[in-house]
Order: sequence, then C-alpha cells, then structure tokens
Amino acid sequence: MRLILMGAPGAGKGTQAEIISETLRIPTISTGNIIREALKSGSAMGRKAKQYMVDGRLVPDDIVIGIIRDRLAQPDCANGFILDGFPRTIPQAEALDRMGVDIDRVIDIEVDDETIARRVSGRRICPSCGASYHVDYKRPTVEDICDRCGDTLVQRPDDHPDTVRERLRVYHEQTEPLKSYYVAAGKLYAVEGQEEISDTSRLVLAALEN
Ligand code: ADP
Ligand code: ZN
Repeated sequence: MRLILMGAPGAGKGTQAEIISETLRIPTISTGNIIREALKSGSAMGRKAKQYMVDGRLVPDDIVIGIIRDRLAQPDCANGFILDGFPRTIPQAEALDRMGVDIDRVIDIEVDDETIARRVSGRRICPSCGASYHVDYKRPTVEDICDRCGDTLVQRPDDHPDTVRERLRVYHEQTEPLKSYYVAAGKLYAVEGQEEISDTSRLVLAALEN
C-alpha cells in the first residue's frame, strides 16, 4: 500500500499516519519530521530550510523532492509507505509521478480553519523522536513526557498563532489544488476529521478498505 495523507497543518495527518503505520506495518515518511531533524543536526539542508519553516512558508520544492527521492530508495519502503506532508505542491506531485511512484490512495483529512487554529495551539511534540501529542486530545501518560522515549515535550515554534495563520494561507494557496490533481487521477478519498482521534482512524481505515 502506497499512501498519501493530505490535509491542512494540524488536521491530524501525523497522528493518523502513526496509527496506519502500526496497523499496516509500513513506514511513515514525514517531510516535516525529516526537516526538523536536519535543523537540529545543523546539516547544510537544515540550514537552508530553517527560515522557511520558521516563517510558516514551504521549503523549496527541490529540497523536499530530494529528501523524498533518497528516502523512498531505502529498503523499508519496498512493501509500501505512508507519505505525511508530501506532496504539498503540484510540482512535488509531478516529481513523484516522474519518479515512477505509483500511489494507491490519497486520503484527505478535512478540518475547518477555526478547528485547526484551536488544535494546533494545544499540540506538543517530542524533540527527540518526533512523536506528537495534544494537551486535550492526546495526552502523554506522564504530563509533558514522551511515552516513547521519555524526553520532555515542547511546542513547535511554527505552532505560534501568527505562524499558523500563515501556514493555513499557504495551505489553501499551494496545497489544496492537489485535491483536484488526485481527484482527476481517481485516487482521492476525503474523510472528515473528527474531534476524537479514534473516530478519525476508523474513517481513515475504512477508506483504505473499499
Ligand atoms: P504540519 O503538517 O502541521 O504543517 P509538518 O511537520 O508537516 O507540519 O511541516 C512543517 C513545515 O515543514 C512546513 O510548514 C514547511 O515549512 C516544511 N515542510 C514539510 N513538508 C514540506 C513539503 N512537502 N514541501 C515544502 N515544505 C515542507
Ligand atoms: Zn519521544
């Protein structure tokens, strides 16, 4: 199964990707997590990407396309994968097609902008392993501590309300047009994002079955 998860920033792509990844035993590839890793390690790619990310803009296509090309060549992708946060522009989708990657399904998790703004403000992430949490909807077992690795959770700098507004603007302008792209390819399945994570998962898993 080769899957793309689409949706606005904070729609719950990453959370659903973790769940599908465990259910189907295929890896999740999150360009956001890969770029955050590069930022932390101070690599050349990280230094290039930093200001775009901090401002809530998209990192240039050539950088993320390169990331995906390298990552999909790894052996663990042979039996399928979930793309979380890629493609985010039409040129990125075209690049994926040119790489000969045959996507089975694109799941679009739909959530309105007000709900997004509310959710993102409560989001917390683990700086070590990238796991994500929410102060109301997905609490860690011990407050502020990652269940997986024990590190202290933080708020992402780009989850600041002003940056979130910019990310939503960019989403509507550059990423939303991808819906028509994948409708035309007969691959888009829209799912309405629910308040409860498990309710959304049920809808997403159902969309994978038919
Ligand atoms: P969210 O889905 O909540 O916006 P991500 O972690 O997926 O968060 O992405 C965070 C940031 O990383 C984006 O705002 C953007 O700057 C950069 N980024 C991630 N994926 C891409 C992509 N495919 N193309 C361009 N920039 C990207
Ligand atoms: Zn962790």
